[in-house]
Formats: sequence, structure tokens, C-alpha cells
Amino acid sequence: MVNNESDYRVKVAIRVRPFLQREKAHEQKSCIAIHPQTSQIVIGDRKTFKYDYVFGPKIQQEELYQTCVEPMLTNVCDGYNVTIFAYGQTGSGKTFTMTGGNILSIPEKDYGIIPRSVQTIFDTLQNRRDCRVSISASYLEIYKDDIIDLLDVNDKVLDVRDDAAGNTIVIGASEHTCHSIDDVVNLLKKGSAVRHTGATQMNDESSRSHAIFTLYIEQRLRDPNSNSTMVQASYDGLVKPLKSTFEESYLSAKLHFVDLAGSERVARTHNTGERFQESIRINSGLLALGNVVSALSDPKKRAGGHIPYRDSKITRLLKDSLGGNAKTLMITCVSPCIVDLDESLNALQYAHRAS
Ligand code: ADP
Ligand code: MG
Repeated sequence: MVNNESDYRVKVAIRVRPFLQREKAHEQKSCIAIHPQTSQIVIGDRKTFKYDYVFGPKIQQEELYQTCVEPMLTNVCDGYNVTIFAYGQTGSGKTFTMTGGNILSIPEKDYGIIPRSVQTIFDTLQNRRDCRVSISASYLEIYKDDIIDLLDVNDKVLDVRDDAAGNTIVIGASEHTCHSIDDVVNLLKKGSAVRHTGATQMNDESSRSHAIFTLYIEQRLRDPNSNSTMVQASYDGLVKPLKSTFEESYLSAKLHFVDLAGSERVARTHNTGERFQESIRINSGLLALGNVVSALSDPKKRAGGHIPYRDSKITRLLKDSLGGNAKTLMITCVSPCIVDLDESLNALQYAHRAS
């Protein structure tokens, strides 16, 4: 594996969801045309955008996963941090893409990228006979710029720090050991049940918070004396996320799945009071994230180290998994409906800035 500048760039995928039953019943018109061969998308009469991947309404979960997610998992198994975002307005398909809809009852063919990734990682690492592997997970929510643990429900607000080695740590976040895909799905169920949801006027299920599901993957060589150079060799001479101790060689990586809050603008949701405050804070997080991701895609800013991580909780929390040797994929979800044209155009522009 040879890395060059383009490997560090944030990859961007667009997914246009199908019309929902109620939209079909209202004979909604489409405002989007997709050209998968050229990875282009045309919105409205004339605006054309190009991305790394463009998926239309017929794409199945499995194909999307195999095309843009599975190739990144080799990096995780080799010790690189990876972050995968779902961005888009409420109702555009973020949760469907990440988990597969309502986590309490998903048919296997509708499994989203989280359960599929977990399966791949377990399958891959089970075959690494030379390592002891441990996998654990945390599930956090950022609500009004506070970090909350979805798997350890109390009123505690968590804090983020960087350790001496440059790793980002959420102090006090509970980590849960996982031995199987069922363990992971159970954690997703438990956490999703406590996630903040609010009945905005756009969608009762609307999530006003960012949800961050993280897998921590640790590998320890069983016989460091004879094998430690073998592990180092797989890094092609890059800065290595490898720590050698007297007793063992150790490799660790984080894989973040981020289901972002709805990207719709405040005016559209007709929110007042408490909800209006939420919208403002959520949008400032998305704004800060957009600035970080766009700076990362600019080689000059990358080289100069001018990445504005400190501007929001979400970018603070993901700091060690967005820059450096980390890989990032942003999946932007859009509705095909003409009534959503403004929001879809905004989302496509946000995604364009990231790439
Ligand atoms: P968001 O999380 O962005 O608010 P959801 O994932 O909840 O949106 O999707 C809204 C609705 O659309 C849900 O009923 C979901 O099942 C459906 N949906 C979204 N994407 C797809 C898709 N690709 N295929 C079929 N149904 C979808
Ligand atoms: Mg959702």
C-alpha cells in the first residue's frame, strides 16, 4: 500500500434515497438526476456536481457498503483511525445508511454500514493468529455541544482531552467489550433508545443531536521478539500508530461512525425557544466540521497545520481521527423530492466543499 496526498483527502459519497410511500401518494416530483458512470449529479435545471461516489435510489445497502466502506476497513485493521459520517437533512436517510433504519427490527439485507463493518472486522481479525485482538465500543451523543454517554445513562457531561501521544480521549466514556456482532447490535439498540429526539415540525423522529458510535480495535503481537518487524513492515515507512513496549508490540485504531444532526436550516423548521437554540448549536457544529474537513482536503492547510479542530465539540472529539494518517468518508444523504430542493442543494454544496 503506497500512500500519496490523494489518499488523505476526505472521500465523499452522495446517496439519493428513493421516494417514500407518502411522497409517492402525493405524486412528488424529482429534482435530481444521477450519472453513476461519471459520478455526477444534476440538481434542479442545471447545477452539476461531481464526487468520489454517487448512488441513486436503487442502490442496496450491500453494494454501497462494498463500494465505499469495505475498502477503508483494511486501514482500520492495519492501525489507522477511520471516521465515517452521514450528513443530510432530517429524513434524508442518514440513520438508514448507518444502522439500517429502526435498529430494533432490521432485516439483514437492510443492515447499514455499522453492522456490516463490524462483521468484516470480526471476520478479518479472527484470522490473525499471531495477535491477541480486543474490540470494544462506545456510543456517545453530542447534544447542544455537551457530550453524553448513551451507554451509561446519568447526567454527567463528558470532557475531551488530548493525551501526550496526541490521542483524543473522552474522559469517563464507558467502553464495552464486544465478542460478536450481536454484542455490537445490542449496544446500538441500547444507545439508540436513549438518544435525544425531538418532535420538530419537519419530522417527529428528527434527531437534533450527533450520535457517535466508536469501535476500538487493539491488537497485541503474541510473540514480539520474533514478529515485531513484520508488523512494522506493513506501514510503508509512514508515521506508525505502533507502540513497542518491553513486553509486546501493540497496535490500536478507532473506527467512528457519526450520524450527524439534521442539516436543515433554522428557518425551515419553524422552531422557537428551546428548539431554536438547539438548531443554532447544531448548525455551528456542522459548520465547524465542514471547515475542518475542507481544510483537510487542502494540501497547503494540511501542511501548515491550520486545521480549526477547537471550534466545536464534534471536531475536538474526532481530532485524532480526521487528520494525520486517518481516513475519512462523508456520506451525504439527500431526498429526491422537489420540495426539498433547497436543502438538497445545500447538502450537495457542503459535500462539494469537503472534497
Ligand atoms: P434521517 O436519519 O436522515 O433523518 P432516516 O434514515 O430516518 O433519515 O430515513 C427517513 C425514512 O426514509 C425512513 O423511513 C427510512 O426507512 C427511509 N429511507 C431512507 N433511506 C432509504 C433507502 N435508501 N431505501 C429505503 N428507505 C429509505
Ligand atoms: Mg436519523
